[in-house]
Amino acid sequence: MNTEKQTVRWRSTEIAIFTTLCLGLFAKPCAMRGQGAAVATPPPTVVDKITDDLYVIRGEGGNTSVFLTDEGIILVDTKFERDHDDLVRRVSALSNKPIRYAINTHPHSDHTGGNALLSPAVVVAHKNALTDMVKGRMPGLPQITFGDDIGINLGGKQVVGYHFGRCHTDGDTFVYFPALKVLATGDCITTGNGQGVPNPPTSSRINIDYNNGGSFVEALATIDQALKLDFDVVVPGHGPLVKKADVVRWRSGLERLRNRVSAVLHESKGKQDVSEVLVKEFEWDPAGNPLRNVLDGLIKELKP
Ligand SMILES: [Zn+2]
Repeated sequence: MNTEKQTVRWRSTEIAIFTTLCLGLFAKPCAMRGQGAAVATPPPTVVDKITDDLYVIRGEGGNTSVFLTDEGIILVDTKFERDHDDLVRRVSALSNKPIRYAINTHPHSDHTGGNALLSPAVVVAHKNALTDMVKGRMPGLPQITFGDDIGINLGGKQVVGYHFGRCHTDGDTFVYFPALKVLATGDCITTGNGQGVPNPPTSSRINIDYNNGGSFVEALATIDQALKLDFDVVVPGHGPLVKKADVVRWRSGLERLRNRVSAVLHESKGKQDVSEVLVKEFEWDPAGNPLRNVLDGLIKELKP
C-alpha cells in the first residue's frame, strides 16, 4: 500500500523539520491527553493536495484537512497545541480567508490541541467527544455538538460530519466532502503510527481508546457504515492518504483478526498468546501504543 505512488490527485509540496521538545508545559498533554503523544523530534510536515480546494497537512499530530471556500476555511482536526503556529502558517499559504470552522474527529489532544487558539472559529464535534474532553479536563471544548450527523454549508460548498457508532472512541466523526468524494476518518482508520512512521502495508492495526468508550467489535460495523458513502480518497487520522479499496482490504484484515483472536481465546489461551498472534500474524508493533493500550480491552470484548 505505497500510497505515495497511487493515482489519486495529491502531491507533497512542503517539508520542514521541527525540533520543539515535548517537555515542561507540554509534558502533561503529551502523557495524558492524546494517544498519539508528541515526541522529542516531530516528523516532517507534509502538505498533500487532493483538489484545488482540499489539502491535508500531515506531520505531527493527526492529519488536518483544509477545505477552502470563498467565505472561509473549514479544518478537520487541529493537531497538538504546539503545532498551532505552524498549522496556521501553512493554512495561510493556501488561502487568505479566515478559518471559520474546525471539526474534531475525536477528543484526543493530537486532534484537538489547537482548538482554543483558533477562536473565533467555531469548533464542532460529536456530543460524546465533548463529554470525553470535559472528563479529561481538556482545553478548547467544542461549541457545537451533534448526534448522528451535521452539515456545514459555507461559500456554496458542503461538508457533512457523521457519527456511525463506536470505533477509536465513542465520539468519532467521519467527515465527508460529497462533491469531492473524499472521506476524513479520524483515528478509526490510520495508516501511520502517529509519529510519522507509516504502518506496514499488510498490517491490521487499529488503536482503540477503551478509556473513552472505543470498541474493536463495534468498529467493524462503524467502518461498514462509512463504506456505504460514495468516496474515492481517504484521509486517515494519521499517515498517508489511501483509497476506498485500501479501507475495504484493511477492514477484512480486522475481521480476520477478530476471528483469529476469538479462536485463540476459545482455546482458553491467555494474553501472551494473543499478543504473539497480533505481532506475528497482523504486524502489530510489539512496542507500539495499540498493543500496550488495546490488548486488555480487546481480550475483554472477544472473550467467550
Ligand atoms: Zn486518537
